Amino acid sequence: MTLLLYDDIYLRHDTGPSHPENYKRLECIVDHLKTTGLWDKSTLMNPRAATVEEIALVHERAYIDRARQLAEAGGGQLDPDTTLSQDSYRAALYAAGALLTAADAIMEGMSKNAFCMVRPPGHHARPANGMGFCVFNNVAVVAQYLVSRHKLKRVFILDWDCHHGNGTQEMFYGEPGVFYMSLHRWPFYPGTGGADERGSGPGKGFTLNIPVTDGTSPEEYITSFKNAMDNDIKAFNPEFIIISAGFDGYSEDPVGGLGLAAEDFATLTGITLDLADRCCRGRVLSCLEGGYNLQGLPLCVEQHLNVLLEA
Ligand SMILES: [Zn+2]
Repeated sequence: MTLLLYDDIYLRHDTGPSHPENYKRLECIVDHLKTTGLWDKSTLMNPRAATVEEIALVHERAYIDRARQLAEAGGGQLDPDTTLSQDSYRAALYAAGALLTAADAIMEGMSKNAFCMVRPPGHHARPANGMGFCVFNNVAVVAQYLVSRHKLKRVFILDWDCHHGNGTQEMFYGEPGVFYMSLHRWPFYPGTGGADERGSGPGKGFTLNIPVTDGTSPEEYITSFKNAMDNDIKAFNPEFIIISAGFDGYSEDPVGGLGLAAEDFATLTGITLDLADRCCRGRVLSCLEGGYNLQGLPLCVEQHLNVLLEA
């Protein structure tokens, strides 16, 4: 059984007529899941909104206020790439809230895994500013929530979005309890994510970056991924796995692109679930990040969700 979290509020985060991160991304995924029957096979769950206190687990209060005020004033630019509309603040609270809802359900044993179809995405959002289409760092909020509220000691964030999740890395760079691993195109936006960035202080060794050059074959990419999972992550022995599931590594993606086929996301998911079964009773919470090809994105999500459903 897989929980599927979605709400129409996410469509009302309006980024304008020509922004690649727009409501059509979710609309085409929902349509496709309904057509293929995966919508009905999943267990639908309504997300709650995150509270300001929960967002403040990883973001500064002054930044949360700034995002709210900008939306209340009718919207505007949070950073050059990140646009807010009137409903964006509310959508962002429900985006992070979906992960909190799913995390509670998984911890209560209602389901082993969940997929949160949310926007705005989160992994570039830094403690005091939004960035790269991201408002609040959804996966970081839930990781810290699992540590603070559910008292977990080893949470693993796996980020296979085509871009490095600089915000997530920054939030846990000194923390040994949250292991952040990213595979991303390199060199590329946002510029961080070199292999030498391994964490600091007590967090040293709990960040792992696997930069991938453009032109790397899917086979090489998957081999690097599996090696890291079989060694570093197995040794970490996570109690809970969170996936920053970006699908902009898909070969035809207009923003990212790393030569991956939709089926490759099934392979990545399968490797992750194998580890989850061995380490943490299958607990996997996946969250949509990037993915901007409206034909390919639904196919990638289908592959991902299919494997989650088989767990
Ligand atoms: Zn991305």
